[in-house]
Amino acid sequence: MFDKILIANRGEIALRVIRAAREMGIGSVAVHSTADADAMHVRMADEAICIGPPSSAQSYLSFPAIISACEVTGAQAIHPGYGFLSENANFVQIVEDHGLTFIGPTAEHIRVMGDKITAKDTMKALGVPCVPGSEGGVPDLDAAKKIGEEFGYPVIIKATAGGGGRGMKVAANASEMEHAFMTARSEGKAAFGNDEVYIEKYLQTPRHIEIQVFGDGKGRAVHLGERDCSLQRRHQKVFEEAPGPSISPEERARIGKICAEAVAKINYIGAGTIEFLYENGEFYFIEMNTRLQVEHPVTEAIFDVDLVREQIRVAAGLPMSFQQDDLSIRGHSIEVRINAETFPGFAPRPGTITAYHAPGGLGVRMDSALYDGYSIPPHYDSLIGKLIVHGRDRPEAMARLNRALGELIVDGIETTVPLFHALLQETDLHAGDYNIHWLERWLEKLEQA
Ligand code: ADP
Repeated sequence: MFDKILIANRGEIALRVIRAAREMGIGSVAVHSTADADAMHVRMADEAICIGPPSSAQSYLSFPAIISACEVTGAQAIHPGYGFLSENANFVQIVEDHGLTFIGPTAEHIRVMGDKITAKDTMKALGVPCVPGSEGGVPDLDAAKKIGEEFGYPVIIKATAGGGGRGMKVAANASEMEHAFMTARSEGKAAFGNDEVYIEKYLQTPRHIEIQVFGDGKGRAVHLGERDCSLQRRHQKVFEEAPGPSISPEERARIGKICAEAVAKINYIGAGTIEFLYENGEFYFIEMNTRLQVEHPVTEAIFDVDLVREQIRVAAGLPMSFQQDDLSIRGHSIEVRINAETFPGFAPRPGTITAYHAPGGLGVRMDSALYDGYSIPPHYDSLIGKLIVHGRDRPEAMARLNRALGELIVDGIETTVPLFHALLQETDLHAGDYNIHWLERWLEKLEQA
């Protein structure tokens, strides 16, 4: 096992990893930009090292700064968290070239899944059901129009290198194809340096269902059921739950087995998420995330596992501490993502926290790096906390969410907490009756009211 690991991240996820390391008796090294000198992860880690100026490119994304920090502190492994360098195959290669361990999948797995066309081809070959659409890349507008006719509109044009909801455009009919095709291409080029696109049938009312998988890198893998993350704004998840209210135990077992077998066949190591759209009882693969997800705590709650501990174990060459038969679901869990943003409007509002009180009690987990007097720097993501609740069933989890949100105090800045108070008034939410468009439509109605 490692003596010391470095966490190449900040905020709540850095705390999450430091906590797992501490419970395992492993030392932790925090890295931080000058803007984060007073951040909680710096205070909580065993050691901290400044790696550069506020700009992420010169700090949290800087290969030389992070590798040097390992060398200076003697950290043997790097946990990337999510975002930043977590899905950067070149970084993983460089980490390994320096004799260090990356706590995550191999560079090759990241590369394959990071290119959406290659990922889809790979998954298809492994027997995972995919959205009908073009065979690989679509070279030009004529080819795009032919595919539109073949599969029927609406279709979605997606940049193969896309991510975070960028590089995707819907064409509702043939006349919209030119604009959508050109825009997806240019967004792909501008944001990711790659203008290759592919086309899929645009599903009208799907849910976003993702399967958590975990592999040991030696051909063994398990699944940990699904999360329903359909409540999204601009393709960003805001409310996640497990198990999915629309998924039966039989469906879970079937798709879970397909996913676990697929990742076992490629000797996948560590945590991964296979994302699907789910409509009329069918699953359609959209992408695989080769990292720990923001919403991993809902899975931890219902399976009673520590996914970060497990990531560290397999990275150190140890076997997984559970097998498929050890994993069973207990109760229901919900996570809400709290941002330093206005509501409605969702404009970022960093600032100084004048009072902070985290909710507690049975079945409540608050993952946040906030504290009284903390000044949120304006340079990074606006996520300031995740409130996760666990109950014996969905109604109990919803009641607990309501209760915990009522206890939470974050003064001095605006947050998206009022969004969740408002959502908890909605009968569709209580019925679990929503799809990937529900939240956007609800927000539109709110604006018009
Ligand atoms: P990104 O990597 O940018 O997050 P994804 O491929 O994961 O892109 O898609 C993000 C979201 O876009 C999905 O959760 C869904 O809301 C929507 N989406 C993607 N593909 C389709 C499709 N074929 N039909 C309908 N919606 C889609």
